[in-house]
Amino acid sequence: MSYRDVFGEILADHHESPRNFGVMKDPSRTEQGYNPLCGDKVSICLKFSNGSDQIERCMFEGEGCSICMASASIMTEMVSGKSRSEVLKLIDAFREKMQGSEVVEGLPAEDAEDDLVALYGVKRFPVRIKCALLAWTTLKRGLEATNHA
Ligand code: ZN
Repeated sequence: MSYRDVFGEILADHHESPRNFGVMKDPSRTEQGYNPLCGDKVSICLKFSNGSDQIERCMFEGEGCSICMASASIMTEMVSGKSRSEVLKLIDAFREKMQGSEVVEGLPAEDAEDDLVALYGVKRFPVRIKCALLAWTTLKRGLEATNHA
């Protein structure tokens, strides 16, 4: 069975054509993440809009399994344009969801048309949850480290 069959079109598409993948010029912050269970590595760059706590753009690079890469791609699309506090809430909500909570405030519903919903399916594969969360926990560390900005 192919990855496409198991995880669906949305994740396969993000894996094959990752969004916001590459090196950022002059990032406000770069944070590295590593998932030793799988060997996934990501580097998350973010840039704040001038003098504000709004994320103008978030990019990633790295090498990892398809779930890790697709999740990072979806995340960078979701967080661009949002404020630090909005994104921190989103990260916590997504983590709660992936760790088993059924209904989490602030997240799209299971039947919503939203790329993030495609990641909910990873919950069926507990060993892969860390793969799906890596980019998010890495971004969270980066945001906490820039809290003074
Ligand atoms: Zn992985």
